Amino acid sequence: MKQLQEKIVSEGRVLSESVLKVDSFLNHQIDPVLMDAIGEEFASRFAGSGVTKILTIESSGIAPAMMAGLKMGVKPVFARKSKSLTLTDHLYTASVHSFTKNVTSEIAVSKDFLDKDDVVLILDDFLANGQAVLGLLEIIEQAGASLAGVGIVIEKGFQPGGKTIRERGIRVETLANIKTMENGKVEFFEEATV
Ligand code: 5GP
Repeated sequence: MKQLQEKIVSEGRVLSESVLKVDSFLNHQIDPVLMDAIGEEFASRFAGSGVTKILTIESSGIAPAMMAGLKMGVKPVFARKSKSLTLTDHLYTASVHSFTKNVTSEIAVSKDFLDKDDVVLILDDFLANGQAVLGLLEIIEQAGASLAGVGIVIEKGFQPGGKTIRERGIRVETLANIKTMENGKVEFFEEATV
């Protein structure tokens, strides 16, 4: 997605060879015009997949998931990172190791909002080692729901997450796939989807 690639080049900051900061339009301040285009792109890529629900993780997945949900006419649900201990019996839970924070946390989704009749589209802001997506897959499995695929705003294609998920036969659609961030310069794979 050209518009997204241009935004990453103009506003993204390469913090190290593996971490990209996009606080000005996705992870802190949010660009609604760009989110609108991102929502439209996901809706078009997953049109006809029978999606009934979008599943993401708080907090950075919420903005793109919200816009995609609006375009697709389905409700996004976000996995929460802190769960109320009084409600554990009514939750699907999974452990996720955070790439950026280097901590493992429990994510949880209420059984009220996901069940076996759902066809789920997983959406997230970044794909690095794939831990967040694997955690969400575990939750979908617990719910007995089906999976339409995974949509990612920014994939770091030089990290193993994309391969891990695709090797399971899962469809992964990426809007900007980064090939390298060496010397502070972001370079993309030719095609948005690899
Ligand atoms: P994974 O679970 O695939 O290893 O990492 C994906 C999660 O880590 C995303 O939900 C995202 O919040 C965070 N993340 C991974 N890499 C980056 C990065 O380079 N920049 C930012 N801002 N977040 C990242």
